[in-house]
Amino acid sequence: ATMPPLLSAIANAGRHGVLVKSAVVMERLAQADTIAMDKTGTLTEGTPRVTEVCPLPASVPGSGSGSGYGYGYGEETVLRLAAAAEHPSEHPLARAVVDAARDRGLTLPTAVGFTSSPGTGVTATVEGRTVRVGSPARLTGDGSTSSDGNTPSGGNTPPDGNAAPDRNAAPDGITSPHGSASPYESTSPHGSTSPRENTSPHSALSPARAAAARLEAAGSTAVLVLVDGAPAGILGIADRLRPDAAAAVTSLTALAGRPPVLLTGDNARAADRLAGEVGITDVRAGLLPQDKVAAVGELGRAGGRVLVVGDGVNDAPALAAAHAGVAMGGTGSDLALESADAVVVRDELAAIPRLLRLSRRARRLVV
Ligand code: ADP
Ligand code: MG
Repeated sequence: ATMPPLLSAIANAGRHGVLVKSAVVMERLAQADTIAMDKTGTLTEGTPRVTEVCPLPASVPGSGSGSGYGYGYGEETVLRLAAAAEHPSEHPLARAVVDAARDRGLTLPTAVGFTSSPGTGVTATVEGRTVRVGSPARLTGDGSTSSDGNTPSGGNTPPDGNAAPDRNAAPDGITSPHGSASPYESTSPHGSTSPRENTSPHSALSPARAAAARLEAAGSTAVLVLVDGAPAGILGIADRLRPDAAAAVTSLTALAGRPPVLLTGDNARAADRLAGEVGITDVRAGLLPQDKVAAVGELGRAGGRVLVVGDGVNDAPALAAAHAGVAMGGTGSDLALESADAVVVRDELAAIPRLLRLSRRARRLVV
């Protein structure tokens, strides 16, 4: 028996490890002329690893009433508290932090009151302290206060495991005054390109900012650990490009007539660096899930029929808003499977150009 072309294309895609939900989806895939991709878990393998734990020195006392204290924790305490807070999260960065703690044989305390904020990070109470782990830009832009005049103390770190506030210290001056732009990112999601000058005269010397900048320039994601509102450490987390990323981007560029657009919640420095390695030039970084939706809308209004490829962790709304949304299934959540029009079960990026070719062939047979 002969199947209608779109249905046989669905069957064919299935044999190649892609589940396409309907014939209508197959048709939409064939129409796609603009491709937007997520970074973490899509362009990259999505199994990032902690490569560095940088504890931050306690701040010097006497510089006003901050919302928290610089405790001067050691490496293991920073990692242990961060991993405990991340434990309930399914984000790839969270798994990296938990794995790093386990690799060091650390026992994780139980976190209570866990909440996660997509594109930002997590918050939980661990051993009676409020631990927040996530984007330095986002975490310092939403409520902790900045105070002037504090100076890194350096060389003043109490033994690991000392969880008591050891002095009357102010938080590092890393808060963005307006909560959106950030000293950590060179590009804000709304196009402001100049890093905001911090109010603190010592901001350029902030150990947190220095550590984050160094890691990001190397293509890593810097994750900030706040304990009771004070910066306790920066984690460097690195993810690898998928081995077939460059080839897939080349194929997609040929199919769409221009390179894919990269939509990422990660920092601009790391995103630019990875994008450059695969031939992507249009990079939109520091995006929250709703910013990704807005970017998809903008590409659509510019006349594009937008195919979004994501892993569904923080891009489920963008997958749903796209002309067609395809989720990489390897790390995908249930939400991704619901929001996407198609799911790549066999976890390779080469499946995407193959799927587009298949859909176009099928449509030619229909039309
Ligand atoms: P991408 O768009 O590259 O997939 P996400 O939107 O998933 O990135 O995450 C964006 C940023 O939000 C991360 O780079 C990180 O700074 C922060 N973030 C989100 N969730 C977490 C978490 N559980 N732990 C640490 N950082 C997080
Ligand atoms: Mg992602």
